[in-house]
Amino acid sequence: MYVPCPGCGRAIELGPDDIGVTVECVRCGQRFETKPARPDPPPQASHRHFAPAPASPPDPFDFEREEPPRRRREGDGTDAPGVVALVFGCVAAVMLLISPVTCGLTAWVALALSLVGSCVSFFGRSNLRVGSLTLNLLVFLFSVLAQAALVALSLALDRAR
Ligand SMILES: [Zn+2]
Repeated sequence: MYVPCPGCGRAIELGPDDIGVTVECVRCGQRFETKPARPDPPPQASHRHFAPAPASPPDPFDFEREEPPRRRREGDGTDAPGVVALVFGCVAAVMLLISPVTCGLTAWVALALSLVGSCVSFFGRSNLRVGSLTLNLLVFLFSVLAQAALVALSLALDRAR
């Protein structure tokens, strides 16, 4: 059996009767009394003891350990519609913002994108779902208003002519 030296940590081999005796470390020269409290098994024996262990029991153990994170990852994966809806909403918002430059053409794109985004956002979860739905509905509302304003403006211009 082995006992670690309190001075340098070197494993000192002891005989069966060497418990409670004072020994001297061969490396650092520290003298200490051996205690029966922590009988460190020899390294070879510990290897023999731990080698078969990982073969069988830790396999189901690892499954149990890895499953909760996997579920969490899958849970995060279901947020994908929410992210997609949010992206749709953002793109739609940008399209709506540049619609005055594109003579209202991209307002139609914003209308379509926000409509799709609103539908997709229903598959999202919690905050992302609410956020993307709000964004998409706002963009949808504003693009409808923009289209209505443009139609009204063109009608007014036609009448003016
Ligand atoms: Zn030592």
